[in-house]
Amino acid sequence: MGRAARWRDFFNSIKGKIFALFLVTFLVAGGLTALNVWTLSAVRARLVLSERYDDLLNNILEARRYEKNVLIYGDARSLAEGVGYLDQAEAQAQAIASDMGRVAGPERRDALLAALAGYRAALLDLRQGLSADAERIRGLGKRLVDLAEGAARTKRERIHRTISRVSLLPFGTLGVFLLFMVFLIKVVAGSLLTPLTLVRQITGRVAKGDFSPVNAPGRHIAEIAGLLEALNLMAHELEANQENLLQARKIAALGTLTAGIAHEINNPVNNIMLSAETLLETHGDVLDEDGKELATDILDQAERAGEIVRNLLDFSRTERAELSPLDPAGMVKSTVALLKNQVMISGMKVVVDLPPGLAQVAGNLRHLQQVFLNLILNAVQATPPGGQVTVSGLDAGEFVCLEVRDTGKGIPAEQLPHIFEPFFTTKDPGKGTGLGLAVTYSIVKRMGGRIEAKSTLGEGALFRVYLPKFMEQEDKDGR
Ligand code: ADP
Repeated sequence: MGRAARWRDFFNSIKGKIFALFLVTFLVAGGLTALNVWTLSAVRARLVLSERYDDLLNNILEARRYEKNVLIYGDARSLAEGVGYLDQAEAQAQAIASDMGRVAGPERRDALLAALAGYRAALLDLRQGLSADAERIRGLGKRLVDLAEGAARTKRERIHRTISRVSLLPFGTLGVFLLFMVFLIKVVAGSLLTPLTLVRQITGRVAKGDFSPVNAPGRHIAEIAGLLEALNLMAHELEANQENLLQARKIAALGTLTAGIAHEINNPVNNIMLSAETLLETHGDVLDEDGKELATDILDQAERAGEIVRNLLDFSRTERAELSPLDPAGMVKSTVALLKNQVMISGMKVVVDLPPGLAQVAGNLRHLQQVFLNLILNAVQATPPGGQVTVSGLDAGEFVCLEVRDTGKGIPAEQLPHIFEPFFTTKDPGKGTGLGLAVTYSIVKRMGGRIEAKSTLGEGALFRVYLPKFMEQEDKDGR
């Protein structure tokens, strides 16, 4: 799998989705924190600048204090000091000139710079002994103070506005988080809760006995898709198991009934056989031909009845068979060999196609031969001359699966659930007893295996026999 595909699979899993959600949440929280830090440092920078506006105003006020000394007392030293403060004010005004342009507008800035320059020039004129127009100088000073105060005020107002804007920021952050959470809930609901509702629906339906698979279109998270698939598989298996269970219960009930009847009939049939045999042996010479024929007929019919009773007893047996390790291929080949003549007469081909190295099964050779005799004979009888019966096999986990497939007439769907029942037959009277598959079913079950039949009418039938593999353990336990 390529790196891109691995990442795609990772993000399509619940683990990946949670990781992605945490990553996005972390990035959003980080971004909002960075925004907060940036706005706070911007506010701090503005506060520092605002202090410089205050310094400018203070220097101008200082200069005006000295201006008063000069104008009232004619103090030359005060004039120098005042001009010194104005120089400092000029340097500060230049330093914050561009900010002032933005805050108070270029006209007010230029007016302040011009007023500063004018006031300074007027003070310098005083030093050169030019006649002092005290009113004009005071007017210039006052205007300068007004302008500087105005600029400082405007700056303060701007900062207050910024601070009140910044104080709204946490609410904005909360709002963004709220939207993000709504989005998260939508994503979680879409990709987790909707499929979970589906899971609830499936289990609810299964509980009510509806095993049909649920079609859940759309893309799902890997774990959910796996869960839906597993649930559908479970429903399918449950359905199959329930059918098997019903079948098994039905046959078990029939077995109990049959066992009772067979046991009751067994003794009279044996007695009839014994009496007919004794009649022929001890009184044969006193019987005429008709009498002998009648006695032989009684014996034949009693033997037939005895065979049916034996089959019924075989079918109703429930104890576990004696199991020994058996090579399935050898067992199948020996069974086919037993049927050689019947197969030849029927004009059919029986093909044994078993893969080499099939595991040994735990079984009983005579019983398994009986199973495959029944299956192959049924297949041969259901297939017109020229057809083919194939016996194949495959490994099926704990079992070896042997299949008998024919190309015959097949079994109608309505008959399929009944073929393992005793006395179910579609053959002409006298040709079939309907006990073959019942006995087969019972033998396979007693070995711990299972048998299933599939068929499409007109396309032949397929019987699958699952036989448990032989385990060393069984041998040691003496089972
Ligand atoms: P019987 O062979 O005496 O009828 P079985 O129990 O062996 O009894 O079979 C029961 C019925 O199952 C048959 O009568 C026949 O209708 C059906 N059947 C069994 N095997 C096949 C097959 N391979 N193809 C078609 N029908 C089958």
